[in-house]
Amino acid sequence: MYKSIIFTTINFYLTMDNTSSVMKKILMTALIAAAALCTTAQEAYQPLRTTQVASYNIEAKLDTDAKMVSGVEVLTWKNTSSDTIRELMFHTYLNAFKNSGSTYFKESEFNTGYNIGNYLDESEMGYIDINRMVIVDGEPLTQDIRYVQPDDGNVDDQTVFAVRLPKAIMPGEEIKVQINFLSKLPKIISRTGYERGDYFMVAQWFPKVGVYEPKGMRQRAKGGWNCHQFHYHSEFYADFGTYDVAITVPEKYKVGATGVETYEATVGDGSKVYKFHASDVIDFAWTASPRYNIISDTYNNKGIKLIYMPEHGGLTDRYLTAVKNAMEYMEKHVGEYPYPQITVVDVPYYASYAGGMEYPMFITAETFKWMPSGVRLMEAAVIHEFVHNYFMAVVATNEFEEAWLDEGVTQFYESQIMDEYYGEGSLVNFFGVKINDSEKDRLEYTQSYNPAISTIDNYSWKYPSYTYGTMVYNKTSTMMQTLKGLMGADNFDNAMKNYYTKYQFKHPSGRDFAAAINEEVAKMNNPDLGQNLDWFFNSMLRTDEVCDYKLTKIVNRRKNSTKHGFFDTGLEKLFVDEDTTSEVVSSIYLQRMGTMVMPVEVLVTFENGNTQLLKWSGKERCKEFVLTGTSRVVSAQIDPDNKVACDIDQVNNSVTNESTQNPIWKYAVKFLFWLENIFQTVAFFA
Ligand SMILES: [Zn+2]
Repeated sequence: MYKSIIFTTINFYLTMDNTSSVMKKILMTALIAAAALCTTAQEAYQPLRTTQVASYNIEAKLDTDAKMVSGVEVLTWKNTSSDTIRELMFHTYLNAFKNSGSTYFKESEFNTGYNIGNYLDESEMGYIDINRMVIVDGEPLTQDIRYVQPDDGNVDDQTVFAVRLPKAIMPGEEIKVQINFLSKLPKIISRTGYERGDYFMVAQWFPKVGVYEPKGMRQRAKGGWNCHQFHYHSEFYADFGTYDVAITVPEKYKVGATGVETYEATVGDGSKVYKFHASDVIDFAWTASPRYNIISDTYNNKGIKLIYMPEHGGLTDRYLTAVKNAMEYMEKHVGEYPYPQITVVDVPYYASYAGGMEYPMFITAETFKWMPSGVRLMEAAVIHEFVHNYFMAVVATNEFEEAWLDEGVTQFYESQIMDEYYGEGSLVNFFGVKINDSEKDRLEYTQSYNPAISTIDNYSWKYPSYTYGTMVYNKTSTMMQTLKGLMGADNFDNAMKNYYTKYQFKHPSGRDFAAAINEEVAKMNNPDLGQNLDWFFNSMLRTDEVCDYKLTKIVNRRKNSTKHGFFDTGLEKLFVDEDTTSEVVSSIYLQRMGTMVMPVEVLVTFENGNTQLLKWSGKERCKEFVLTGTSRVVSAQIDPDNKVACDIDQVNNSVTNESTQNPIWKYAVKFLFWLENIFQTVAFFA
């Protein structure tokens, strides 16, 4: 998800309308008949790169009046563990929007000041009904479905259900279950739902099996299901599988989705069927609207499908260039994009809450018709969501428990790509204000009202109010910038390539991430860093320590001469000035203001132009370096190569205050808030 700088909830009311709709019954028989007309996927991409643990065959039909999707899903789930599985657990995410008692809505109160659920009318709520569940060619399961609340025990929350199986699934065995469901889409909330009468972003929309984690996986002490409730601040976690999805919509609707389109045909009753195929993916989302236009493009033999609104026709090159920049950078610095295609969806301004979201092979972005070329929020969003296909889709971390591993790492790469391709003022270069994306991340953390307020490593619903974004996105991005600074760009790239290669199509934890980085650190054999960076990861991720080193003063004095002054020699007093040296003694005083300990480098410049690099472990609270030479010290600078992005106050890093950062940055960030707010507000009235 793209972290908007202003709270999206500010505009929440602005886009609410009072359209009410009457639910309509769906004719399942018509759906099945329509689907039967479709041939099977022809050009399905190969090969399968991983074990397909959770594969879905879904037939879905959109009722645009009732805002409902009726579906029949066949899940094939394989027990790849050595455990005996006696029950299955499923997410029913749309129930987060069923009533104000859901955990999602209750938590919204602590994060927005009000319970959003209390302000939605009947037509705006969302839910998912499980009408029938059965083992294929076996026993019915519907009666055994029970909603459970593993995170908070909130009985009003129905976002997870468990079902006991009549017969256990043994190691290596698979089970097929069929679920008939009806999904009532909400008015767009958390990047899913409908807007007005003709716009649909269909995500988190089908009953989805959780992840069974055996002992040892992600450092688990004992095997079990990982299937969290839907929280206000949480994304998702799922296993890899193959998806074959047939979607029936009214004839004039165009559809984009995860995967590649394999079939498209009108049915004859005024509807049209689209089929999509994807393998090695963890999710499937789709969108439908009669207003979409489509451009097909390629980059390096990978397809790019841009689905956009006609009013944004003048901006399609900006989208395509951004996604190609992201593909080029990621393939060069991290690894191959393994899927044959990426679908980029531009959402209309009236559905902007559907923009800025990532699904495998399918990402959403937003813009406004008159977006100035120097304001690159649309580029940043596209690049961000594309990077998620690496850190979320391919390296499928647990977004509930370790959101920093997808959001923070992605935010970092977004900023690197923006700075690389768009130069100075990469994010904003407008009316003389220049804001670099990486600097924006750093400042949103270091200039936040209390950088020590929380820690990065936390379950996403356990952060103190209003700290999730700063910790997960900005502090993590700053940590990654620091990691790159400490290791050097080439070693850092090698470490991230190692992480990506080792954990693609797997579910690594934060500790697995650190171990992969440490493998490269050990090869570096750098005494300043040590054999591993556990000290760094522990401090940045698991403590609220902050890094701040200060250069307090420089004192130069001449070295004492051996004999200088009036000396009595017999009867007379004689002025003596013997053995005077020209040596200068300089003291450089440093302080550790923060709680975090980092190795410190100080560049000292002498009057004669010479320089000297000093190194300090950074452990003591204060430190004096004493240098003896022939020239005075004129300036000293902590971290001269800007390696330590996480130093929260870089103004105090030198005595001369010749710093890359000064308080004007605070106003630049405020300007950005203002700018984004204006764009969103004006766009609404446009
Ligand atoms: Zn994101």
